[in-house]
Amino acid sequence: MLMNNTSKLIVGNWKMNTTLPEGSLLLSRIIKELTNFTYPELVICPPSTHLYAFSKELEKSKGPLNIELGAQNISEHEEGPYTGEISATMLHNIAKYVIVGHSERRKFFNESDAVDGKKLQTAIRHRLTPILCVGEDQQERSDGHAKQKVLDQLNTDLAHVTSQEIKDVIVAYEPVWSIGTGNFAKPAQVEEMVWLIHNNLIEQFGKMAGSKVRVLYGGSVDGENARNYLNIKGVDGLLVGGASLNYKQFAKIVRASA
Ligand code: PEP
Repeated sequence: MLMNNTSKLIVGNWKMNTTLPEGSLLLSRIIKELTNFTYPELVICPPSTHLYAFSKELEKSKGPLNIELGAQNISEHEEGPYTGEISATMLHNIAKYVIVGHSERRKFFNESDAVDGKKLQTAIRHRLTPILCVGEDQQERSDGHAKQKVLDQLNTDLAHVTSQEIKDVIVAYEPVWSIGTGNFAKPAQVEEMVWLIHNNLIEQFGKMAGSKVRVLYGGSVDGENARNYLNIKGVDGLLVGGASLNYKQFAKIVRASA
């Protein structure tokens, strides 16, 4: 758990939603809804086609509400014949964060832990802050394998990260059965898994470095339940999907975390 900073990190993942004009409108509505609101770091991960325009927009509106941008994915490769991919270099100066290993990438694009480990390395090399997503699916939870699944993901994805580098990595616990389903995880379930992650990080990287890693929760978070999840000891912020597309809901989540 982040010991020296009590502010929570809120990340909105827009996934493959909004055209650029729709996204610009949504961004401006979020900013307006939170006018005069002081917040240290809010991250929005729009589609990659929006990043450049948003970075210019946000340069103009820097204020007490600090919005940073994140990409939803990057290539593990530096450059070359990888049609359709986006490299870390392409994100220089337009994104500060990148989501790695989201369950939708693992499920629909067959991303393995080995590939996600490489993506993580690439992000770190390019000074992008990776948000590594881990979590079990419904079958794994029903079979009693939730903990082992998450430990396996952490051990493989972080295998080549040093204790110097881990401090700049963020981990998000996202039970796959709760993503976009409205199937809410119980606070006790979240707390148990979040501490499993904190303890694994300390085991892998030592107390000094491992305890500095922020662990977020994600899974059907909305304006109503955000505070309950944020109040769980060990939850350092939230990764929000669906509700981040609704500016009123998203602003409510941000306010709940202040
Ligand atoms: C996500 O996509 O990471 C997510 C948590 O989605 P939702 O909030 O819609 O469950």
